Amino acid sequence: MMTEAFKLTYSTMFNPPEELHARFDEALGTVQKRLGEEHGMILGDQERFSAEKFEDRSPADTNGVLGWFQKGSIQDANDAIAAAKRAFPSWSRTKWQERVKLVRRAADLIDQRIYEMGAIVALEVGKNRMEALGDVAETAELFRYACSEMERNEGYVVEMGRDPIAGYLSTNVSILRPYGVWLVVSPFNFPCALTGGPAAAALVAGNTVVIKPASDTPWTALLIVECLRDAGIPAGVCNYVTGPGGTLGQALIDHPDVSGITFTGSYAVGMKIYRDFAQAAWARPTILELGGKNPAIVSRNANLEDAATGIVRSAFGLQGQKCSACSRVFVEEPVYDALISRVVELTRTLTIGDPTKREVNLGPVINRDSYRDYQNYAEELSQAGRILTGGKVQGGGAFSDGYFCQPTVVTDLPLDHRLWKQEMFVPITTAASVKNLEEAMMFANDVSYGLTAGFYGSPEETEWFFDKIEAGVNYVNRPQGATTGAWPGFQPFGGWKGSGSSGKNAGGHYYLPLYLHEQIRTIVHKA
Ligand code: NAP
Ligand code: MG
Repeated sequence: MMTEAFKLTYSTMFNPPEELHARFDEALGTVQKRLGEEHGMILGDQERFSAEKFEDRSPADTNGVLGWFQKGSIQDANDAIAAAKRAFPSWSRTKWQERVKLVRRAADLIDQRIYEMGAIVALEVGKNRMEALGDVAETAELFRYACSEMERNEGYVVEMGRDPIAGYLSTNVSILRPYGVWLVVSPFNFPCALTGGPAAAALVAGNTVVIKPASDTPWTALLIVECLRDAGIPAGVCNYVTGPGGTLGQALIDHPDVSGITFTGSYAVGMKIYRDFAQAAWARPTILELGGKNPAIVSRNANLEDAATGIVRSAFGLQGQKCSACSRVFVEEPVYDALISRVVELTRTLTIGDPTKREVNLGPVINRDSYRDYQNYAEELSQAGRILTGGKVQGGGAFSDGYFCQPTVVTDLPLDHRLWKQEMFVPITTAASVKNLEEAMMFANDVSYGLTAGFYGSPEETEWFFDKIEAGVNYVNRPQGATTGAWPGFQPFGGWKGSGSSGKNAGGHYYLPLYLHEQIRTIVHKA
């Protein structure tokens, strides 16, 4: 909740009230005075500092240091797991009502701190201010959703039937119980919601948690951990370590005392974790939320203005670095030229620049590797296809110290080109004209991902679309975003095929039980 009358979601963020801008600007000023501080890791009741540090810089301006963070070692990883293991007996036996109370209190703290947290997200990730505030607001909603699910299900205690044994009374109860130490490994692009959401679910369920954020975004994740701590969650219940995925991260994955994991990130890293995590004495729950190659399909019966608006928002929101980004557009031939020329027109109206400024739509991409990826893809696409707009990095002047890339629309790319199937994760979308909707669907589903999808067309076509599309989150006729903009309570979020492992969406009806295992309790009395 942001003000009395306005509720921020990814669908309402395009017309915020004036007050929201004023408060963001004020918080940004406060945050700018705190840049360059050193931040420790949190292990049990200890703030832990390591010999080696790493710096966190803004991708919008790499001159200044946002903060210094600890390059945690394998020992730190082991100690964090040990701290979480020690805290488990007591936390798991704390009444679920009490856990819910504490996590709700943390959600309230997130709301209270939303402007400062949002300013830090904008600086650290390079998200525009509304997307940054959205990431924070979404986190509080995910906390509350986990709490209300626990309540709605009354702690997941269910009385079963009584065995028909003559001379005895046999009662049976099914109860869902926490697993133990839960690992949360999160990505750079939604460092708030995708650290906080899984952590809150694990905590409400009664697990203890070790958080390892992306090395590009350690600060945002720390802010979440601080909200949980300040809400009164006991020491050791939520631990926070920072450092390279390949060393510290891998040590967490390989540790036998981890009982379950939620990993959100790329397909390549996720599948490696899936395989490595299986090298233990028994199978453990592995929730993977991975990449996407999300299509929008536009029928000849579509409202083209809505389609163009939704496609541009989803292709270029957060500089194309959403797992749900619209990276492929399939349009029926009779409306292809009209739709694509409108997409190009709208793309050219987008403002690139300092993401903390209110008029800016696109900030920078996250780091030097992504910046280089963008240039390589643009080069390859300009040879294999035709770039209609964009295709260049934005250099010079205010742009020279950040990783700014122009939003890019590509046409005439042969449909067997490799980049139709690979997640690029930069502001590039490719469009193709198709003979009919069947052909569009064939291409849409012909990838190893299945996260989100969008459709613009008639009501009769809509049923067909939902039936045929292979994806976890699907939107029809939505100008607010063709493939992006899921919000807790409205659109539980998760993917099929290579986009996710559990088949159940985060923030949905079936999510919390993923963090719990079932125990049946049978008691027999002589009648
Ligand atoms: P990434 O490179 O896969 O990294 C994700 C996390 O894994 C980071 O914290 C990283 O740490 C860590 N890591 C790397 N190697 C590891 C290892 N061997 N063991 C343990 N941890 C390891 O992903 P990203 O670039 O941050 O995020 C972008 C990707 O996430 C995209 O593919 C996007 O589609 C996906 N994503 C999916 C969803 C979804 O809900 N399905 C949501 C958002 C993003 P370091 O930073 O230290 O390397
Ligand atoms: Mg950075």
